[in-house]
Amino acid sequence: MPARRALAAAALLAAGALLSPMPADGATTTRLGQRYAIVATLDVSSGRLDAMVELELTNRSPSAIDHVNLSVVPRALGYLAMNDPVTVDGADVATEWTTSINLRVPLDDLAPRETVTIEMPFQLEVGLSPDAFTARTSRANGVLSFGQWFPIVSIDHEVYGMGDPQITFTAESIRLDLTTTTPLGRDAVACPGLVSAPATTGTSWTCESTSVRDFSFVVNPRFRLTERDVDGIALRVYTETVGGGTTADLASEALVGLADAFGEYPWQDLVLAEVGSGGGFSMEYPRMIHLTRGKVADRYVVYHEVAHQWFYGQVGNDQQREPWLDEGFADFSARWLMGIGENQCSTRPVDSEVFAWPAGPLTGGDWTSCDGYFHAVFYRSTELLNTVRAAMGNDAFFDAMRDWVRHHRFGFTTASQLLRHLQARADVDLAPIFAAYLGDQPPPAPPTRSYRLD
Ligand SMILES: [Zn+2]
Repeated sequence: MPARRALAAAALLAAGALLSPMPADGATTTRLGQRYAIVATLDVSSGRLDAMVELELTNRSPSAIDHVNLSVVPRALGYLAMNDPVTVDGADVATEWTTSINLRVPLDDLAPRETVTIEMPFQLEVGLSPDAFTARTSRANGVLSFGQWFPIVSIDHEVYGMGDPQITFTAESIRLDLTTTTPLGRDAVACPGLVSAPATTGTSWTCESTSVRDFSFVVNPRFRLTERDVDGIALRVYTETVGGGTTADLASEALVGLADAFGEYPWQDLVLAEVGSGGGFSMEYPRMIHLTRGKVADRYVVYHEVAHQWFYGQVGNDQQREPWLDEGFADFSARWLMGIGENQCSTRPVDSEVFAWPAGPLTGGDWTSCDGYFHAVFYRSTELLNTVRAAMGNDAFFDAMRDWVRHHRFGFTTASQLLRHLQARADVDLAPIFAAYLGDQPPPAPPTRSYRLD
């Protein structure tokens, strides 16, 4: 027990207080400076990755914290081994798994503005992932995709088979130095922020991404690269089964159209990469999109995933508690660009949480029926947003949304903030519209949810 806390405990005992000197669940925050340097060696033929994460963590909250929560989704998939100790500033610490994916790392009272370095060695043995996870960390047809693959600052939460299982907060930088055990062609590694790659064939790639809430990459020795410049943004499309031209065209249209609708795209590049699986769902990461084989050139899917670069990549939210904040806007944006309206048959509240649909930790759930997740959270959100847009008028609605994105860029938002913002920018009362689409009770808080917003 640190001296300061021992004194506090003594004082409380002396006063006869029955209070615990620290809350049972400890003190933490998500207001943290995060800089990740990951050094990894990948054996493509076996799907084995040996990695060391060095995380420089700075407490940007006004209070001392005694632990940090890190999300490690590959543990739930059965891919993770962490045989060597985690260290904080070079000293071994006793970590604890509080859910199947949440690693609690103790910190010895990290004061405001103080920085520590956490080192975490880990190994992944990647296999074919089930259901919604095929475009995340998975291995199929000789392609290795890495999404939600390394320990990252999060809130203490559990993996779930519906929706997106990981909630993250913007890091200053995430850098990967990747070595492959056999030489590969330079275009075999698709990652955002490519810093260096072999001239033709080699074993070493470096990628660094700044102001991002996650980092993903895809490795396929048979990748072909299609490149475009879209108003100064470097677009790179990596495909195997189709040429990348159609995908690049679609992504270019989306980048231009969405910058017009919601404000500038803030990064220097956008990467789209085909994964090995045909089934499952394509997946968004900051500056990076993983496309399943059946959807590489699908107009809706490419537009939807590019829209997540605004809603998720730039403006964050809790994708388990309020998934409509990113999925609703991604669906709305894709349909807006396509010039089509919503098409839904749900009666469920748009603001349902993913837990409203029974599912296993990694599989199952009703994604597609009228009563399912897509119709309620994706398509019915679009109906709500189109109704709000019609009530406000296009100019007021998109002006308000551009201000929303600019104000919350790289931050973390809630539905109540968004609704207040839209109402403040509307000449009409939006309450009847909100009441028609949103649940009238605030969603119950899962037991381990307490976090501060940026
Ligand atoms: Zn989506």
